[in-house]
Amino acid sequence: RSRELTATPILTKLQKDCATPLPLLRHVADAMASDMRAGLSADGGSDLKMILSYVDSLPSGNEKGLFYALDLGGTNFRVLRVQLGGKEERVIATEFEQVSIPQDFMFGTSEKLFDFIASGLAKFAQNEGGKFHLPSGRIREIGFTFSFPVKQTSIDSGILIKWTKGFAVSGTAGRDVVACLNEAMERQGLDMRVSALVNDSVGTLAGARYWDDDVMVAVILGTGTNACYVERLAAIPKLQGQMSSTGETIINTEWGAFSNGLPLTVYDREMDNASINPGEQIFEKTISGMYLGEIVRRVLLKMAEDSDLFGASVPAKLAAPHVLRTPDICAMQQDNSDDLQAVGSILYNVAGVESNLRARSIVVEVCDTIVQRGGRLAGAGIVGILQKMEEDSKGLIFGKRTVVAMDGGLYENYPQYREYLQGAVTDLLGTDISNNVIIEHSKDGSGIGAALLAASNSKYE
Ligand code: ADP
Repeated sequence: RSRELTATPILTKLQKDCATPLPLLRHVADAMASDMRAGLSADGGSDLKMILSYVDSLPSGNEKGLFYALDLGGTNFRVLRVQLGGKEERVIATEFEQVSIPQDFMFGTSEKLFDFIASGLAKFAQNEGGKFHLPSGRIREIGFTFSFPVKQTSIDSGILIKWTKGFAVSGTAGRDVVACLNEAMERQGLDMRVSALVNDSVGTLAGARYWDDDVMVAVILGTGTNACYVERLAAIPKLQGQMSSTGETIINTEWGAFSNGLPLTVYDREMDNASINPGEQIFEKTISGMYLGEIVRRVLLKMAEDSDLFGASVPAKLAAPHVLRTPDICAMQQDNSDDLQAVGSILYNVAGVESNLRARSIVVEVCDTIVQRGGRLAGAGIVGILQKMEEDSKGLIFGKRTVVAMDGGLYENYPQYREYLQGAVTDLLGTDISNNVIIEHSKDGSGIGAALLAASNSKYE
């Protein structure tokens, strides 16, 4: 008996388990909205932390002067300067530089890492010239985008909860990361200070709002995922009376931790069990770039074990976690050729898998199933946020133009994912309302956004 036949039932079962029909998406959107409320009511009240950003004045377009941004969120840090010219001149000039962080700084002491960053910043600041000009008597102000879990304590301070993403730096956890950076800058003799500490989704919202007053939500879909939105202070019970001048603030949802009503498979559960944070970040593990390729790999491995789809034996490379990455499955899905040549070579080069046409087309279907589920669930999450805002103030969102600013490598590079996401939003909202909801890419808005937040929270205003 040929084992080949058994690949098809695995695919059929996968498609069934990953299905995202409208009622399921509705349920996810509703659950997102109610988890948001629970997280706003009390700390620890929900999967969603609903963290206060302390950003309560968004860029207006009137910002003027020279500001810096520093972005630390992975194996690189980026520094940027921008000269702002107010409503008329807007962004007069920007310059940026990217510096990669050598391994030993990721495993060393806090002082070493921050000294390395401060010296990179010092070098960058030295080359300031041309169109960039700091009024005399001022020190340079920085917006600091720090994409690790932080308990924010004010617009310019926050305690590091823990390092993630492969960083194991000693002596920072429990400390104010802004103080760490300010001290390192002092040690370097660098005349700069941090005016705003921001999460990357908050930076994206600020950067997009600078150009468009209708931006209310920002979503990052990259290696991981997160979302933030503009909330009324009156709708945040856990705040208990702290007031901002505008009556509004940005809430960082940390929505990657959402877990309600998701259609999960045995592959998701096994991947979660094998992860460094089992039971955590379930939404992130279903929709973000770090995981989509890995879920596909686990399905293909099962097919290789239970059928002879890829030949008689299981290709050894396919058994290695994370060999198949999201950019690989994306590239396979762009292959429109009759013989799926590109799919074949990616399978062979990346996973050591030999394939015939039938196997290749099954692989593409597996990719599509996982990406469709991811994109549609991300869309349902966005609708959940919009729905929560609309329920609180009728007409605020659905009665006018509303913009959701998107950024991150997954959203930017994966056309099918983007289409599935938009499709779910349209399905859920209906054509009339969804015509008013603009989901748009805001490329690298978060760097400029952080500099803009340094400007709107400047010590000199
Ligand atoms: P990060 O989220 O790490 O700060 P990015 O926003 O640039 O950085 O996202 C990088 C992620 O985007 C990668 O981990 C990968 O999952 C995804 N990605 C990058 N390129 C592609 C691509 N061509 N197709 C699909 N996904 C991609």
